Amino acid sequence: MFSQFDLHERLLKAVAELKFTEPTPVQVEAIPPALAGRDLRVTAQTGSGKTAAFVLPLLHRLIGPAQPRANIRALILLPTRELAQQTLKQVERFAQFTFIKAALITGGEDFKVQAAMLRKAPDILVGTPGRLLEHLNAGHLALNAVEVLVLDEADRMLDMGFAEDVERLCGECAGRQQTLLFSATTGGAALREIIGKVLKDPLHLMVNNVAELSANTRQQIITADHSAHKEQLVQWLLANETYRKAIVFTNTRAMADRVYGHLVALEHKAFVLHGDKDQKDRKFAIERLKQGGAKILVATDVAARGLDIDGLDLVINFDLPHSGDEYVHRVGRTGRAGGEGLAISLICHGDWNRMSSIERYLKQQFERRVIKTLQGSYSGPKKVKASGKAAGSKKKKVEKKTAAKAPAKRKPAAKPLASADGLAPLKKR
Ligand code: AMP
Repeated sequence: MFSQFDLHERLLKAVAELKFTEPTPVQVEAIPPALAGRDLRVTAQTGSGKTAAFVLPLLHRLIGPAQPRANIRALILLPTRELAQQTLKQVERFAQFTFIKAALITGGEDFKVQAAMLRKAPDILVGTPGRLLEHLNAGHLALNAVEVLVLDEADRMLDMGFAEDVERLCGECAGRQQTLLFSATTGGAALREIIGKVLKDPLHLMVNNVAELSANTRQQIITADHSAHKEQLVQWLLANETYRKAIVFTNTRAMADRVYGHLVALEHKAFVLHGDKDQKDRKFAIERLKQGGAKILVATDVAARGLDIDGLDLVINFDLPHSGDEYVHRVGRTGRAGGEGLAISLICHGDWNRMSSIERYLKQQFERRVIKTLQGSYSGPKKVKASGKAAGSKKKKVEKKTAAKAPAKRKPAAKPLASADGLAPLKKR
């Protein structure tokens, strides 16, 4: 029950309006110390409900009677435009019964319009570091009255090269009383450095550890001989799996365009999202996917970071991510809020070792799956191949499980590339 928290009644009203009944674990752990004014460092994965965990205490602090706005009182920094937009929406929903106003500052939008918005001094500013710094340098932005600073997806902001910008912005919020830092992973040396610099005596909450990723999401691999083979596999999966919405991840923009082009040629309703796309295209793609006008998104990591798309239950790693953390970010967007998900990684010869190290990182083994009609010659290192064979007797059982677990929703409107029976047994090592 949200009433267990000492939150303002107007916020509890908004929570009820949003039909949030039970707080998620990260909310249970983070809201009380945040309300008490502590600095927090929270390790929680995407989809855990972490946005509400910082937005509600922040609004509780700012809530008050209507008065002329003079200063920006809270700053929420995020790595990407899409994530910033989503967060702004959540802030507005939770603040719907208050006088608190929030504004968004990200790249890809009109600079002058943003400058005018900043002159009105919103209570809360949600934005990405690059554009915020531009406004700071142009003299449009005063952060000296910021009381609460939130760094969301801090690990990712650093990965994206924002370390200096983030530090500078934190320095501008010199009078702040509280800093809340959220990251999906425990991060590396760069994250530790920032934590040391910006947080004061923080409470560290590790809410969702990596192992929990597997709870709602089945994770499989399918071996492939080369890129063209991977494309056939993707087409087969999108035509034959049962899913509501799917995301196909590639490591490069060029590959995202290529995979997208082939899907569209096969009459899949798909969109592509990557750093070369302008803001209008990106917004349009996300809206269409959210509303169900399209079911498939082909994306690179940066573009898809933090997207919260309801009903996303299939993730295909066309390219294997570079690290275990990145894998968690990608796969973490299925199985959200208790839903079930399926994550499938396509593995060529050169991917095998990385895939094994991701398995070690996650402390689990992915299911080995073969699509009979598209079986290639590569099937992993020899030793593994032999044991895969031995596990062949489990095939029916596992296959059934897939069918039972996948939510029975609409089928994609696309022609299957291979004949329908192509689904071969899943092999477990
Ligand atoms: P987040 O991890 O903040 O991106 O949240 C993931 C999704 O879970 C969002 O769609 C939220 O609206 C939803 N959510 C967050 N907290 C709750 C809750 N206590 N009950 C139901 N849904 C929630």
